[in-house]
Amino acid sequence: MTELYQHRARKRFGQNFLHDAGVIHRILRAIHGREGERLLEIGPGQGALTEGLVASGAHLDVIELDQDLIPLLKLKFGLNPNFTLHQGDALKFDFSALAGSDKLRVVGNLPYNISTPLIFHLLAHADVIADMHFMLQKEVVERLAAEPGGGDWGRLSIMVQYHCRVEHLFNVGPGAFNPPPKVDSAIVRLVPHTKLPHPARDPKILERVVREAFNQRRKTLRNTLKNLMSTDMIEAAHVEPGLRPEQLDIAAFVRLANVLADLSPSN
Ligand code: SAM
Repeated sequence: MTELYQHRARKRFGQNFLHDAGVIHRILRAIHGREGERLLEIGPGQGALTEGLVASGAHLDVIELDQDLIPLLKLKFGLNPNFTLHQGDALKFDFSALAGSDKLRVVGNLPYNISTPLIFHLLAHADVIADMHFMLQKEVVERLAAEPGGGDWGRLSIMVQYHCRVEHLFNVGPGAFNPPPKVDSAIVRLVPHTKLPHPARDPKILERVVREAFNQRRKTLRNTLKNLMSTDMIEAAHVEPGLRPEQLDIAAFVRLANVLADLSPSN
């Protein structure tokens, strides 16, 4: 379709539009939308991915924050009966209300400036999400997919892997976008667990322990957790207080959170 007007990419909305047909095709193949499914695209922009998502026959909802892009999206896709456009902020969107009885498949070439808070917002709705495919800064994908023991393992890896299986699918260079971002990008697939492998008694306490532990990631747990729990409590969770937070797997963090939860009946 010929462009009807020229939209200037806006930095404050994290706008880097995909223009590489090969990359777009590869992303659509990884998503593989099918008739009868519920897809939700965050930040459709000028519709680079939207076109193929609508063509899959799935029902597609899109959420776009930039008002200036709404007329273009309406014009390109508004006549499709399986297309619904929402103008608004994905960070405030109630994904559970939209899902109804069908689980959502969420996709998006996300604005990098809000990708972490957006992922945390989506995790709060993980029970209504079948899977998520996102383009993110490569460094963020590496943190999402990290394993314990390395420098990438931290709060983001733990809280996302608590809820989801993570697959780093492939990398995308800056040249695939207009304007090109200053960083490399990557596609990640997040699949919420149907049954949590390590359920915490109180997920809010788990979040607190993980945040506190990684506030000073070079220090030992004995030090980083001292405002939350004693050395005895750490040992009661069968965790060595002399370890550093990046050496602990999710199961160990959940044990720490459960010891704390047992002593905090009000939480
Ligand atoms: N999907 C398009 C593509 O691949 O070419 C655009 C991707 S661009 C990186 C991010 C898009 O998200 C932009 O269209 C931007 O306006 C939109 N956006 C930014 N912040 C948003 C928010 N809070 N909620 C919904 N959309 C947002």
